[in-house]
Order: sequence, then structure tokens, then C-alpha cells
Amino acid sequence: MTNLLPSPLNSATRTALEDRLRFYRDLGLYDFYRRPVDPALLSAESESADRDSERNYQASEQTENLGAPSMPRSSAEWVGEQESTFRSQQLPGSNLLEEDTAIPPRKPISAAPEITAMVPTAQRAAALQLISDEIGNCTRCALHAGRNKIVFGDGSPTARIFFVGEGPGADEDEQGVPFVGKAGQLLNNMIAAMGLKREEVYIANVVKCRPPGNRTPEPEEANTCSPFLFRQIDVVRPQVLVALGATAATYLLGARQPLAGLRGRVHAYRGMSLIVTYHPAYLLRDPRQKKEAWADLQIAMKELGLKLPGK
Ligand code: URA
Repeated sequence: MTNLLPSPLNSATRTALEDRLRFYRDLGLYDFYRRPVDPALLSAESESADRDSERNYQASEQTENLGAPSMPRSSAEWVGEQESTFRSQQLPGSNLLEEDTAIPPRKPISAAPEITAMVPTAQRAAALQLISDEIGNCTRCALHAGRNKIVFGDGSPTARIFFVGEGPGADEDEQGVPFVGKAGQLLNNMIAAMGLKREEVYIANVVKCRPPGNRTPEPEEANTCSPFLFRQIDVVRPQVLVALGATAATYLLGARQPLAGLRGRVHAYRGMSLIVTYHPAYLLRDPRQKKEAWADLQIAMKELGLKLPGK
């Protein structure tokens, strides 16, 4: 009979796992499930996990040591902040592999609606309130069943830059404010590195209710909710829109495309400049990509006429 019991974890892996579970508990995540694993793969997997963590540590050190000239520590310290890499899918947005949007490929993605009329700046706060009122105690999609609070959006109604995430996580669901958890702290640091205050930008998500277990929103859910996001974008009418991760990029652009082909350039979009970059939760999982994200944010800064560090 095959022995289905996994071999015991070595102490380094065990300590790393305990640290990570503590980290998730801090984030309010308690429930985990195990995917069935081929027992034959388990010992090879644990050996390669040890090698991976070693490799990640070395790679992180290299990123830190490289210290690109355009990243003074004072303005872009978040690039050098290292979080341990872990193959888990708990933070919203963290299940986005660069080329894998995790959105079912055959389900249709709605095209963006026509741009609505420009709202005078003095009326933008009221116009956003009207959208929020219209959402009301929404039951338009299945996500309403598990939500605590609707996460409408946060920031200045006249922001020059608008960040779009995927969907609320546990902290956001509890507080009704986008990006207030661990990924939000990193986003705050990214915003600060650009020389901006969080109150100066606007932040919203593709879906306004938390997907169970922080899974990627289903196309039905995202297609139902995204018209409200488009209306928020049209009211705020920023100069620059930043899609954080593949889900935001997919539903803004109305098509699935690999993130690699979308990053690093300016897309002309609804009369604005759209920049696509990594989701902060993905950057927490793979801090080596922070340099790439910082390069994307510098493109956004250039579009806004903000002074680039060291220039
Ligand atoms: N991840 C998101 O995509 N949005 C949030 O509001 C928080 C985490």
C-alpha cells in the first residue's frame, strides 16, 4: 500500500511555514485548505522548496545590493523592502502569475462602456456619491452573500492619478476602504515614493465586494461590477490610470493579455494614459519584481510631470 503520510518537514521549512502562518493570522486569514498532492512529489518538493528559498534570499540580496541609481532609498525604500517569498494564494491579487490572469479563458469579458460627459470638478464628490447610492445595498452578483462592507473607493474626487486593484480582501471588507491591509501598506509606500499623498490619489477595485477566500473575481462578477468602476473613472477623470495586476488590466482593457506585453509603456485609454504594473500583493510574494514596478511608476510620474528622483 502507498504511504500517504508526507515525510516530516525539515526545521528550516517548518520555521518558515510557522512564520508565514503567523503573518496570515495577522492579516486575519485563518482558514486554509490543502490541495491533494502526489505523495511521490512531496519529498522532491520539499527539497526544491529549500533550494528555492535559498535562491530567493540570494536574489533578494542582489536586488538590495544593486540599488539602481534612480532609486534613492529616501524616496523608493519600498523597492528594497524584502518580504519572504511563499507559494501561497491568500492575498487578493497575489494569485496573479505574471502571464496567468487566473480568469477562466472562455468566459467573455465585457467591453468598456462609452465615456460619460465630463463632470465639473466642484461636482465630482457629489457625482461619486450618486454612484455609491445607486450601488446601494447591492445584490447584483453572488459576491454580496459573503461581504461585510461594500468597498466603493477612496481618495480625491479630482485626483490626477487613479489606481485600480482587483477586489477587497479581509481588511478592506471589514473597513469598507480599499487597500488597507498588507498590500495596501505597500501601495501606500509606492504612492509616497512617487512624491504623492494617499489623499491626493483615487483608489478603487474591479469588484466592490470581497471574493470568498480572496479568489480572483469570476467574469460574471467583474462584468456586473465594473460598469460602476468605469463611471468612477469617468467622474474623477484622472490624467493617469494605473492598473494593478492582470485582473485590473483585463477588465479595463476588455481583453485578456499577458501582463508582460502591457507593462512598461503608456496606453492611450479613454482620453487618459493607462499604465499597467504588478499588483502589490504579487510584489509581496516576489519582491524581486519591485524594481520593475518602480520603473512602471516612473512612467506614470513622467506622464504627470512629477520630478523623477535623482533627475
Ligand atoms: N487587493 C486589491 O486588489 N484590492 C484591495 O482593495 C486590497 C487588496
